[in-house]
Amino acid sequence: MSLNVEQIRAQFPVLQEQANGQPLVYLDNAATTQKPQAVIDALVEYYSTYNSNVHRGAHFLSDKATRRYEEARQVVAHYLNASRTEEVIWTSGTTESINLIANGVAQRLEAGDEVVVTEMEHHANLVTWQQACKKAGATLKVAPINDAGELDITAFEGLVTERTAFVAFPHISNALGTINPVQELTQIAKAVDALVLVDGAQGVAHGAVDVQAIGCDFYVFSGHKVFGPTGVGALWGRYELLQDWPVWLVGGEMIATVTYQDATWGELPNRLEAGTPNIAGVIGLAAALRWLQQFDADAILAHEQDLLTYATECASTIEGMRLIGTAKNKIGVMSFVLEGTHPADVGFILDKQGVAIRTGDHCAQPLMKRLGVPGTARASFSIYNTRADIDRLFSAIKKAQMMLA
Ligand code: PLP
Repeated sequence: MSLNVEQIRAQFPVLQEQANGQPLVYLDNAATTQKPQAVIDALVEYYSTYNSNVHRGAHFLSDKATRRYEEARQVVAHYLNASRTEEVIWTSGTTESINLIANGVAQRLEAGDEVVVTEMEHHANLVTWQQACKKAGATLKVAPINDAGELDITAFEGLVTERTAFVAFPHISNALGTINPVQELTQIAKAVDALVLVDGAQGVAHGAVDVQAIGCDFYVFSGHKVFGPTGVGALWGRYELLQDWPVWLVGGEMIATVTYQDATWGELPNRLEAGTPNIAGVIGLAAALRWLQQFDADAILAHEQDLLTYATECASTIEGMRLIGTAKNKIGVMSFVLEGTHPADVGFILDKQGVAIRTGDHCAQPLMKRLGVPGTARASFSIYNTRADIDRLFSAIKKAQMMLA
């Protein structure tokens, strides 16, 4: 079943906008995706018809908000194939999810323990572990990649030892688009009983995820990268682990009993969710996943692969354009440098032509250093992009080359 991309595009109000006097070509999807009308409507509906706090009100609106809010948890649990709905914890996004996990791990790490990450981490999945290791006197080991941006699995396996307490890696690299063999990596880590976190920030937008098949302990993502609102995301963790995971924030909602001297914590998922949550965000995120699930996952992937193949062909005709990240197994992310130019200048000229990409280090400074570039220009494709968008991208790139020559 193929996608009707024109029909999909029509559901995204932003895509009808102009940028710098030109019809917008939005190719910054790895940074954040645009929102379909269904998500915007869900947010407006919440605020205009049943805005209320959840779990605490003894009234109609609060009951409705609570019902929708908890249904959203089921939607995420289903999307990730979690075995229990309580395994889904709401957070503000991937970064907060990883910090919540790192906070707990840091308390359990002992001097001499090891944590393994990869050379392709986003700062959110690197600085957290680096700091946790520093606090605990543990060692951070970084698994290398090859020049194509693929993880060296043999080297990764060599770094995982009996001392490895925790392993974290991205499902998909934001800077390069590389898809990691997450199941295989998890199996390697599980052979030494290490806990495993998959950073799913870039993983969720390209089809449903099966955390049980992966076999990991934690999977985290942000709503805004999967057509949902900003400021909301989820942490999935195994029930047995989360049940007594060190609490992160304390306050209302997460307690069982409180005296002036002490407090006891509530049950999952509440024990890890203090304070009034981002109710609208949660409802919007569920609307986004429901919206996405109406499409055939294979058709989405095929469409994005077609765009990547087409863009790669176009790139091969441009002298001085070097692709950064050429993994065999990758999603529609094209990172590149144009010889003799700075990525920021390229991005600026593309923007003037209505083409939105991202430039810079993509929150992956050590990775850029490893690849020997100051940064890259990155075009990232989504369900609503077309070959016509790629044509506009390349005509803008040619113009940038001419202007910067
Ligand atoms: N991890 C990866 C792979 C990402 O791409 C991102 C965002 O770009 C993050 C983590 C952080 O996500 P957020 O800023 O939504 O918390």
